[in-house]
Amino acid sequence: MSYKIAVIPGDGIGPEIVRQAQRVLDVAAAKFGFELEYTELLMGGASIDVNGVPLTDETIAAAKASDAVLMGSIGGDAKTSPWYRLEPQLRPEAGLLKIRKSLNLFANLRPAYLYDELRAACPLSEEVIGEGFDMVIVRELTGGLYFGARKTEVTDGVRTATDTLVYNENEIRRIAVKAFEIARKRRKQVCSVDKANVLDSSRLWRSVTEEVAKDYPDVQLTHMLVDNCAMQLVKDPAQFDVILTENMFGDILSDEASMVTGSIGMLSSASLNETKLGLYEPSHGSAPDIAGKDIANPIATVLSAAMLLRYSLDEDEAADAIENAVKQVLKEGYRTADIASRGGAEQEPDGCTVVGTQKMGELIAERV
Ligand code: NAD
Repeated sequence: MSYKIAVIPGDGIGPEIVRQAQRVLDVAAAKFGFELEYTELLMGGASIDVNGVPLTDETIAAAKASDAVLMGSIGGDAKTSPWYRLEPQLRPEAGLLKIRKSLNLFANLRPAYLYDELRAACPLSEEVIGEGFDMVIVRELTGGLYFGARKTEVTDGVRTATDTLVYNENEIRRIAVKAFEIARKRRKQVCSVDKANVLDSSRLWRSVTEEVAKDYPDVQLTHMLVDNCAMQLVKDPAQFDVILTENMFGDILSDEASMVTGSIGMLSSASLNETKLGLYEPSHGSAPDIAGKDIANPIATVLSAAMLLRYSLDEDEAADAIENAVKQVLKEGYRTADIASRGGAEQEPDGCTVVGTQKMGELIAERV
């Protein structure tokens, strides 16, 4: 079996971390008997430098023709980079919004997993952490309040602003189906989060998710109000497997959930459309402050590559092998500076060894 992977290294630390993710993917492919054919694409600042625009139509076409897209991150330092003297629609981030729209990526997945070795970075108490937690937030990405009609008017000297929260049942159904499919690859529990005690859109959300649930008798569906969910995430995060929610609630809850894991360099993400095609990227940005120094943590990108194998290629065993390799490397005490307990002295007082970007990639690849 051979798969076409579009690779967008991007800007800043993007190329360094993507290189390590590809290294790990190559080892997994060889071990589990499939081939990966890469096409490297320019986006963001790297594309502006060559093409004058952050994303070309050719790049979009090439991404659409692939089985999955692996991305680093895009953007530069807004204060110093010449990219930010361009019109907003020509800046690096405009490329990101355009590719998400062009690929119709309506489902955003953000896992929040607490590695035992990184418990110290978790801001929750030991009692709350307990045995740890492992959840994924499935957020609707193209509807709701962020895309509804909006206006600001002045009536009798008083300014009034209106935003509209709109969802139709088809938009809810397709994201619910994604959440149930993902739950089938995990612990088979979906917690749908809404505000059904107040909002009509949430009542429709609840009724459509119940309809979808009938097609997934093996998956347990529960409902939770968003205010309660915000509390439960810091009170008892272990109760969650898949959290399914609309755009704005997901925006807030996914940041909350990822921060309780405590380490930005570890957070992967995926954005999916109705086909198997997805865009996989770390949750963090291009970190221009540390670019080119071989100190960036490549693990978020490596874990995004594992998600690519699981959700776009259905190569679950290879995905498991990469995730286990990451766990193993952490267990053996290897850390990049950002996740080292004492800020990166070569030999940490707790016996951990601090390594650079390339070495971390090599260590993970060896353990796949
Ligand atoms: P950032 O996530 O790039 O960096 C925040 C801090 O975390 C920095 O101190 C950085 O050094 C550190 N950091 C981030 N990733 C790390 C890693 N893998 N290993 C070690 N340390 C890491 O956020 P920012 O500084 O606000 O943004 C920088 C640029 O990235 C901006 O141009 C922004 O627009 C862009 N950005 C892009 C994306 C994306 O491509 N999806 C997302 C967020 C920000």
